[in-house]
Amino acid sequence: MDKKEGKKIFNGIAIGKIRFYAKAENKVSRTKTEDCDAELARYEAAREEAARQLEKLYEKALVEVGEANAEIFNVHIMMLEDDDYNESVQNIITTQKVNAEYAVAATGDNFAEMFANMEDEYFKARSADIKDITERIVTILCGNSDSSDIGDEPVIIVADDLAPSETVQMDKSRLLAFVTRYGSANSHTAILARTMGIPALAGVDIDRSWDGKIGIVDGYEGLCIVDPTMPVLEEYFKKKAHDDEQKELLQTLKGKENITKSGQKINLYANIGNPGDLMSVLENDAGGIGLFRSEFLYLESETYPTEEEQFAAYRKVVETMGGKKVIIRTLDIGADKQVDYFGLDREDNPALGYRAIRICLTRPEVFRTQLRALFRASAYGNLAIMYPMIISVDEVRRIKEISKSVKEELIAEGVTVGEVEEGIMIETPAAAVMSNELAGMVDFFSIGTNDLTQYTLAIDRQNAKLDEFYDSHHPAVLRLIRTVVENAHKAGIWAGICGELGADTTLTETFLEMGMDELSVSPGCILPVRRAIRETK
Ligand code: PEP
Ligand code: MG
Repeated sequence: MDKKEGKKIFNGIAIGKIRFYAKAENKVSRTKTEDCDAELARYEAAREEAARQLEKLYEKALVEVGEANAEIFNVHIMMLEDDDYNESVQNIITTQKVNAEYAVAATGDNFAEMFANMEDEYFKARSADIKDITERIVTILCGNSDSSDIGDEPVIIVADDLAPSETVQMDKSRLLAFVTRYGSANSHTAILARTMGIPALAGVDIDRSWDGKIGIVDGYEGLCIVDPTMPVLEEYFKKKAHDDEQKELLQTLKGKENITKSGQKINLYANIGNPGDLMSVLENDAGGIGLFRSEFLYLESETYPTEEEQFAAYRKVVETMGGKKVIIRTLDIGADKQVDYFGLDREDNPALGYRAIRICLTRPEVFRTQLRALFRASAYGNLAIMYPMIISVDEVRRIKEISKSVKEELIAEGVTVGEVEEGIMIETPAAAVMSNELAGMVDFFSIGTNDLTQYTLAIDRQNAKLDEFYDSHHPAVLRLIRTVVENAHKAGIWAGICGELGADTTLTETFLEMGMDELSVSPGCILPVRRAIRETK
């Protein structure tokens, strides 16, 4: 048995035969020619044939994976029209007096490398598209046919890399999973795998000798197991049966209301930590985003993300959600999330230390940059802001002053600012106890049960040794939650839960009975929680 870890691209369990997928080898050699015009004409004809193939692929993808995903083939058709690319091929043919396939391959290598070296993750991922169109033209010029025939039996495809055109051409009914050595979570192949609902892993140390062996792909744990022992195989058959049940559930509950048998409704939103999670938010039919952890912008960067970078990210999220509510939490670094360029000191008790709003209130330039980006993005959708780790009325007063002055500054600059709800996270016992006073100062409360439990029970949530003591059903925690909801309603504002406890279906009935207005859970938990709501009397 061989067990390899990889990056999780899409969840699910697959068990089946492995097919090592290798592209048709195009052997391109550099040959001299006297007849450059003939080579230019061959290139032109190959380019036209490539465009015809891509148009067909677009039509196929449109039916199978929808317009947004099919769009990549239109992008490829546009790339075939690109002046820089075409001029480069033509120049190589005429100045070096060489064959068309060599000129295309050399151009493709240069352009792909140029994109791969770009800073922006989106452009980096486009390098694969350049390779894809180049390979297509070279294949046509070499007279090879495109080999996407994966045979007649269902298989787990293992490959170095997969171009979007290869994944979409494969017969979906025979595809169990994708496992690749390369490929990013941003790649179109990853997006397509998610849309097709096929478990997928990238960054796996694959091996050609796996071809024909039995494999297991565990998209939840990021594992690829080859030649499993009988007990492992049996364990995975059980896991897969459970997974299939969940998937069926997912289908039947999509589009249904979050309503109890007696007619009580509740909003069910999703928690995300990255714009890359948006696809699963939409797939799982979330009513909005109840917690967007904005830290990813700071954690993925080498230095403070600029206002423009932040604005672009927030705008993309609200636009993708098309008018549904998106609650973005302001920066919550410190504690377990360390960022070098903030130059934070080492602390004996980081969870009780300089983190979240405490950083924002003492580093107003960092806070104001984020707020400017958020208010600017608010003009493009239904954006709300929430502030983490609040402990006092005075903090909220200071936040409101800063937020008001940022808004006024933008309006004075002629920037459009939307209607923005501003709420706070209730994740410290102090905030829960003070919630009667805090409720009059904000538009909503979102209860962060992960930290609320940690601070109420005095248990470090990171310390695995304390797991048996970390009782999230502790009456003290539940009593605080009830108090928060009651105080919110007395002041006429709404209250929700965005900590992990919101997805605990053994408590769904209790939360409904408390009158909770919203639950925000990870995308994969939306439908199980919807079922629990709909089963409640
Ligand atoms: C929480 O504390 O419950 C919460 C949602 O915030 P985080 O897990 O990001 O600390
Ligand atoms: Mg928290």
